[in-house]
Amino acid sequence: MNNKPRVRFAPSPTGYLHIGSLRTALYCFLYAKKYKGEYFLRIEDTDQKRLVPGAVEKLLESLEWAGVKHKEGVMFDESRALVRKVVEKGEYGPYIQSKRLEIYQKYARELVDKGKAYYCFCTPERLDSLRAVQEKAKLAPAYDKLCLKTYSRKEADEKIKSGEKYVIRFDVPETGETEFEDAVRGKMNFVNKNLDDYVLLKSDGYPTYHLAHVVDDHLMKTTLVIRGEEWLPSTPKHILLFKAFGWEPPQYAHLSTILNKNTKKKLSKRDGDVSVEDFKNKGYLPEAVVNFIALLGWNPKTEREIFSLDALAEEFDVAKLNKAGAIFDLEKLDWMNGMYIREKSMKDLAELCRPYLAKYEDKLSDEYLEKIVSVERERMKKLSDIAENTEFYFDSPEYDSEILKWKEMSNEDLKKTLEKSLEILSGIEKGDWTLEGIKDKLMAVADPKNRGELLWPLRVALTGKEKSPSPWEVAWVIGKNESINRIKKAVSLI
Ligand code: GLU
Repeated sequence: MNNKPRVRFAPSPTGYLHIGSLRTALYCFLYAKKYKGEYFLRIEDTDQKRLVPGAVEKLLESLEWAGVKHKEGVMFDESRALVRKVVEKGEYGPYIQSKRLEIYQKYARELVDKGKAYYCFCTPERLDSLRAVQEKAKLAPAYDKLCLKTYSRKEADEKIKSGEKYVIRFDVPETGETEFEDAVRGKMNFVNKNLDDYVLLKSDGYPTYHLAHVVDDHLMKTTLVIRGEEWLPSTPKHILLFKAFGWEPPQYAHLSTILNKNTKKKLSKRDGDVSVEDFKNKGYLPEAVVNFIALLGWNPKTEREIFSLDALAEEFDVAKLNKAGAIFDLEKLDWMNGMYIREKSMKDLAELCRPYLAKYEDKLSDEYLEKIVSVERERMKKLSDIAENTEFYFDSPEYDSEILKWKEMSNEDLKKTLEKSLEILSGIEKGDWTLEGIKDKLMAVADPKNRGELLWPLRVALTGKEKSPSPWEVAWVIGKNESINRIKKAVSLI
């Protein structure tokens, strides 16, 4: 038996990667890294109704962006081609469930042969009316084992030969309990008779999730299954299946659900951004997203909050996973993202910000972009903030001249103070046109008890806004000529 820890991330390709699924992948990745195990990616696409074209590529792109890398399973080929191919690597393939149908069919039949599962020929109509009767009697809906009781194996085989449609159901024991130890939740106990005789193989030859999970995780030698707690009620079904095959079940760790901060309900698409791509597009950095979600549901039991991937792997411990739901606090993510933004070199940050200013491309030299970013970065929470209220770096602003006034200032005083600013800025030599140079000159003249009198009108003249960076910052970025033109324009408006 292979004793190497093996974990897998097994997403269904729905078209996007939920932030909670990224957390599952991340925990698998960290676990494998910490315990020198193997982490692989399997695609669970047996629900043919839910297939979305391009979904696997999207999923791989999101994982790649986050830096949660795997070396086995479904992945992009290593070519640098614009359109990359999805390939599979590893000795336990295929890793795409829809390519494994014959394997599931073989194992489902094996269970029938062992007397642990049976063919069921009930029509959807019969199942509907059975359910209706049970509901009326306030009973939990469950299959009544009619086909198991009615047909001998020989009769069932004949029906199949004659082309009748069937499914294969697991024959759940009517007595006893199924127990297992969940790494997060401890001992779990389920009463068997509450489990319906679940379908293993559907009439179209596709397996259900239950069968596919058990067969795959056995054949792929998974030692620990990390997945969302929505799968907890299905786990006794899986344990029973492992046992019916005579296989050792893996360990399980069911992760708590990520909750919306306000409703305390599962974070869903209705709440706005939930996909990794949404966060990427908004300008969250992968380092911040990974750090943030790692701490959702896992408590390193220290005060420390900033962790690189390597540091996370060092600290990671399944025993420290939380049972309680994890609240998704966007403000905290914003704070963390801001921290990571300020850790970037100016050059790197400028390049990351560039796409958000694409509409000003022709005015955006490297030098100009870096200047803007160096002024804005202290306030930035996300990369997209670089495009919020920053048009004045590119175009002379339009505004209502009333907002130029500091407090109850008269037109006359306003004009005077703007003219003073004009004089100060005009007198600055080219070589002194630096942040400090401009600031010192303005501060030397501004009345220490009433700085706003000089600085407010100047700032509005430069930006057209009541809120913006300081006038010396803006003046430094847009340059002397442009600053002077804007002050002149302001004066002409009075
Ligand atoms: N395909 C399942 C999902 O996307 C995975 C469950 C599991 O990891 O076992 O939720």
